[in-house]
Amino acid sequence: MTVLKKLSVVTVAKRRYCLFVMYNRDDFCSAAAVKEEEQSVPAGLTGSIARIERYMIHDGPGIRTVVFFKGCPLRCVWCSSPQTWKETKEVIFLKRKCINCGSCVASCPEKAIEAVDDIKKIDRGKCNLCDECVEICPAAALKFDGCLMSPEDVVNEVMKDEHFYKTSGGGVTLSGGEPLGQPEFASEILRRCKLKGFHTALETSAYAEWQVLKKLMDFVDLFLIDIKHMDTEEHLKITGRNNDLILDNILRTAKERPGSVAIQFPVIPGYNDTKGNIDSLVQFMTGAGIDSIDVIPFHKLGQHEYEELGLDYRVMDVEVPETGSIQNIREHIKSKGFEIIN
Ligand code: SF4
Ligand code: SF4
Repeated sequence: MTVLKKLSVVTVAKRRYCLFVMYNRDDFCSAAAVKEEEQSVPAGLTGSIARIERYMIHDGPGIRTVVFFKGCPLRCVWCSSPQTWKETKEVIFLKRKCINCGSCVASCPEKAIEAVDDIKKIDRGKCNLCDECVEICPAAALKFDGCLMSPEDVVNEVMKDEHFYKTSGGGVTLSGGEPLGQPEFASEILRRCKLKGFHTALETSAYAEWQVLKKLMDFVDLFLIDIKHMDTEEHLKITGRNNDLILDNILRTAKERPGSVAIQFPVIPGYNDTKGNIDSLVQFMTGAGIDSIDVIPFHKLGQHEYEELGLDYRVMDVEVPETGSIQNIREHIKSKGFEIIN
């Protein structure tokens, strides 16, 4: 069964980062007043959100609003979004804005900031998120990434694009980071979206206990689940976790919700693009009764995030794959009877 509708909006050269508008984080983070709603909500429930992006066209059918959760149990070596790894907010340094005044180094009560040439290195073990450096910086070169929001705050934001969901067949996608890392919060957002009649999608690594996935299953129309490698040892090497739980959860989800699962396969040259791995993936999907797959080419668009966090970018030497090689993989999988989405 086909699980995704095609959307012919525009042809884009680079997936995922086109046609988006990002909310000003300060705007929605400061909307702290939580309105009383008719549904019962666990008192004071909040979740950690990295950002909310609008007008996305690759994260499910139609035009979508994507809510990026903070916190992820995996550490994929090619991750394009390291700012979503930690569930707590973090201080981010923007080198391009820094005027090297030194105020941040002098102001930090924990002595957590060190100037190394033009870079301000933040010792995240010492930083207690006190806000002094962010406040004092005259160039807005330091900022917090992430904020706490209530489910109501999130749904109020995504409702701004209700019109687009109706006209395009779109909806709301929870992504990350890992939404399953904050199951109550994710479940409440999804439940509220379903009450509003929105299509819902969950982009996930499926690295969570089955009961966590099961808890929010009724509120998800489409599961977009990553398979990064079929070999469990290789998976451990490139993500920090083995894939036993992930593959088991995919099989169970596909069985419980037939026709509602699509696989996302990020193609990382030299890591998971062998014919053996791709054939193993095809075999797994056949056994699971999953017939849709999104083949996602490696890109380096998140490289600057590593600089901002002071982290090593471990895939600097990996070449972005040629369009032709990705097309060959897509054709190969398609020839086995699968639908290629996006
Ligand atoms: S947030 Fe506070 S503790 Fe952390 S680096 Fe800035 S001044 Fe130092
Ligand atoms: S306070 Fe801001 S502008 Fe000044 S050195 Fe620190 S980061 Fe750079």
